[in-house]
Amino acid sequence: MKICQTIEEMHAACRVARSSGKRLGFVPTMGALHEGHLSLVRAAKTNSDTVAASIFVNPTQFSPTEDLAKYPRDFESDRALLGKEGVALLFSPSVQEMYPTGAVTWVTVEGLSEKLDGKSRPGHFRGVTTVVAKLFHILEPDAAFFGQKDAAQLAIIRRMVRDLNFPVEIIACPIVREKDGLAMSSRNAYLNAEQRGQATVLCRSLTCVRQLWETGETGPDKLLTAGLKELEKEKSVRVDYFEIIDPNSLNPVQKAEKGTLIAIAAWLGATRLIDNILL
Ligand code: AMP
Repeated sequence: MKICQTIEEMHAACRVARSSGKRLGFVPTMGALHEGHLSLVRAAKTNSDTVAASIFVNPTQFSPTEDLAKYPRDFESDRALLGKEGVALLFSPSVQEMYPTGAVTWVTVEGLSEKLDGKSRPGHFRGVTTVVAKLFHILEPDAAFFGQKDAAQLAIIRRMVRDLNFPVEIIACPIVREKDGLAMSSRNAYLNAEQRGQATVLCRSLTCVRQLWETGETGPDKLLTAGLKELEKEKSVRVDYFEIIDPNSLNPVQKAEKGTLIAIAAWLGATRLIDNILL
């Protein structure tokens, strides 16, 4: 696996990988890799001739009060995992390389970026879309792989790609879960043993909504009430949002149908976790 730390080197290596019509698949990450990330790499392998990945803890998507400094980092372990999965190119730039002094240009997907996580994390999605746009320019991938776990991010990146005519196919991959249903996340490492037990309440409340929908209930209010009731069983878990929405517009739906997104974010102590299901 070739590791590139400069934009110039990565750009050149990706150009070579794409020569003579070869398909380049790209998996962007912030590192601290787990099976969720690796599932994207495997999807990229199946779909592309060459797989590139990036590890970059992007400071512009963290607010000053968030966990940028303590975000888990383990480059050696990540490198070994990606190498084992057959990733050919790894981009791991410094912050200065990605944001040289004087960088003031942003990519913003208006409207969508203020919904869901954007409501409680102002500026978060502007940071995400800016870095993803930059990565797309640097790597010029044919396809990029994102997890359904970050459902709002996925909708926003799809919209950016459409609106700005990026020649990149966006491929969504299903959420990978622990045995007890907890969606895998680098932030699960922050949970203590008690919180780790409580954290399954997110997926339990989503399951509760789905089960009620499967019995024929389509009213968002009734479905939400049932989900919240389940969530309240864990007294110390604080809900940030619990929404029944269209997965593309991220707007609330009048009626829950096949393909409707049920999305949740909740705090366990200082850790904010997200999860979702598509009906
Ligand atoms: P992150 O390193 O958290 O920025 O995530 C990088 C990519 O991995 C994003 O596209 C995430 O949606 C995806 N991802 C994270 N956790 C999971 C998971 N449990 N299942 C599937 N994809 C995931």
